[in-house]
Amino acid sequence: MEKTYFALVLFFVGLCLGSFVNAAVWRIKHKKDLLIARSECTHCHYKLEWYDLIPVLSWVFLRGKCRKCHKPISPQYPLVELSVAAFFVCSLAFWPISLDSVNHLLQFGIWLMAGVALAILFVYDLRWLILPDRVVFPLIGLGAASAILVGLDVRNPGYFVFNLLGSIAILSGFYFLLYIISKGKWVGFGDIKLGLGLALLLCNWQLAILAFFLANLIGTLVFAPALSTGKIKRTAHIPFGPFLIAGFVIAGLFGHDIIDWYMALTYSGIMINTP
Ligand SMILES: [Zn+2]
Repeated sequence: MEKTYFALVLFFVGLCLGSFVNAAVWRIKHKKDLLIARSECTHCHYKLEWYDLIPVLSWVFLRGKCRKCHKPISPQYPLVELSVAAFFVCSLAFWPISLDSVNHLLQFGIWLMAGVALAILFVYDLRWLILPDRVVFPLIGLGAASAILVGLDVRNPGYFVFNLLGSIAILSGFYFLLYIISKGKWVGFGDIKLGLGLALLLCNWQLAILAFFLANLIGTLVFAPALSTGKIKRTAHIPFGPFLIAGFVIAGLFGHDIIDWYMALTYSGIMINTP
């Protein structure tokens, strides 16, 4: 009962923060203040009133059109709002550690805040192929805070340091290497910084490998059809941030289950093959 109530609260907070994500994407693009700038119609610059800013509902009641000029409002708005709300509820439902201490609650809170930052980066990279520092640096800050909380909680400090450095090497170091080798042609420096933030948040080398693997898998599945039919060229600039973010979220919430499942599968395979 308590958890259902908490989920409901998180759903509504997620909707509101999803609305903030949309506003933030637009404000960063137009170099406005993140928190105090007023939202406006991108066509006629009509300043939106509070009743135009109710997540999802305003868009539905206005049938996806501006109240003043009736030009279409992108479905990106309700989609992002619902996605952040869904991310919040799923995070609560599948959070891998118990929320039984202040430290664990803080880790969960940081994860949700990181989710908001990642939603901004996801949309921004998809639209403009850039991961803005104004969001990536706070994300790295959140990651550092999360890693400190994990560090305060561990019994084996040596393994914690190994986990932390391993994560960074996999999710950030590898891209840094590719960046050096290709002189910045294969990956952008933004991916290296994003990878650092994600590595700090995961703070686990196994989850880092999984996130890296999933990012490449999802990227390949999405782009392979277009590449094979020649719809996009191999040299085309493809945003990699969204795939890295998707891989990270799956690894963060389901990673331990996926690794256990994979280990069980491998182990049972060995058992069957052993005469
Ligand atoms: Zn308008």
